[in-house]
Amino acid sequence: MKRILVTGGAGFLGSHLCERLLNEGNEVVCVDNYFTGNKQHIIHLMQNPNFELIRHDVIQPIYLEVDEIYNLACPASPIHYQYNPIKTVKTSVMGAINMLGLAKRINAKILQASTSEVYGDPNLHPQPEEYWGNVNPIGLRSCYDEGKRCAETLFFDYHRQNKVRIKVIRIFNTYGPNMHPQDGRVVSNFIMQALHNENITIYGSGEQTRSFCYCDDLIEAMIRMMNTDDSVTGPINIGNPNEFTIRQLAEMVIELTGSKSQIVYLPAVADDPTQRQPTINKAKEILHWEPTVQLRDGLRKTIDYFKKLNL
Ligand code: NAD
Ligand code: UDP
Repeated sequence: MKRILVTGGAGFLGSHLCERLLNEGNEVVCVDNYFTGNKQHIIHLMQNPNFELIRHDVIQPIYLEVDEIYNLACPASPIHYQYNPIKTVKTSVMGAINMLGLAKRINAKILQASTSEVYGDPNLHPQPEEYWGNVNPIGLRSCYDEGKRCAETLFFDYHRQNKVRIKVIRIFNTYGPNMHPQDGRVVSNFIMQALHNENITIYGSGEQTRSFCYCDDLIEAMIRMMNTDDSVTGPINIGNPNEFTIRQLAEMVIELTGSKSQIVYLPAVADDPTQRQPTINKAKEILHWEPTVQLRDGLRKTIDYFKKLNL
């Protein structure tokens, strides 16, 4: 049995990860400050004696004894990470320093939930890991993009300087049950709007693209990455390479919900990437992983989840 720390464990991805690690017989310590996370996502794990929940902000150091650390603490939705951008930078950068310091002290393996946002608004398509990105350092998204880029820098410096065993994955848009209904990300927004027969809000032309990965596929890749041997550091892209325009996503959600919603076009948001699609050759070769859930099937499961919330 391993003892595993999950920061951001009460969030969307963190809650799935905690459950999966517990089901595999591990002891799990979940750390969260509940900024965008929710105790409801993990309440069913509380009876499990192998589960421990700590309210803690990762910008402060924490002293624990664990074998592995999954560092997920950071708001992921643009409206939430832009709400207090200075705090977002602190969470990414000081959070990384604190978790890497902990990993160094106790010789734990540590995985960073990095992001496709490190590529910014990419002028290379699709995006391989070797691409350095096209990021605005002073825009509204920069707190998140540059915070995550700096966190990656810290991971590789702790690895080179202190021999910390690191694993960096770059996650592309992931969706599924346990997303917060008011999270503000496109999948949850469109489903909520469709279920209430409200207007579906497309920001910009709707021709911008994203590649959507279902949460179960993502968690599988994350665990495979942690279990690679010490020579594997990443970064490795994790995502579903099937690319859709935001307009196609809106039409699919309307069709699957049978909604009477109309599509409306609102002004584009600042620095919105126009295209995004991962190259996943490394994930295939090194992790023997590729996504198994297609968008239509994943959306059906996510729609069922939002219906059951009885909002
Ligand atoms: P989320 O917002 O649902 O979860 C983030 C969790 O971190 C929440 O529980 C929140 O309360 C917690 N948190 C935030 N700041 C904290 C702090 N200072 N101290 C302690 N806890 C804090 O988002 P998610 O989609 O589950 O994303 C999880 C991680 O994966 C994030 O690091 C995100 O950047 C990364 N990621 C997610 C996606 C995606 O599409 N879901 C894509 C790329 C990267
Ligand atoms: N988007 C949209 N309507 C919404 C929410 C988002 O058109 O109600 C667009 C957004 O402008 C972006 C894409 O959907 O082009 C994905 O946005 P999201 O916030 O989910 O994630 P991002 O990939 O931009 O971080």
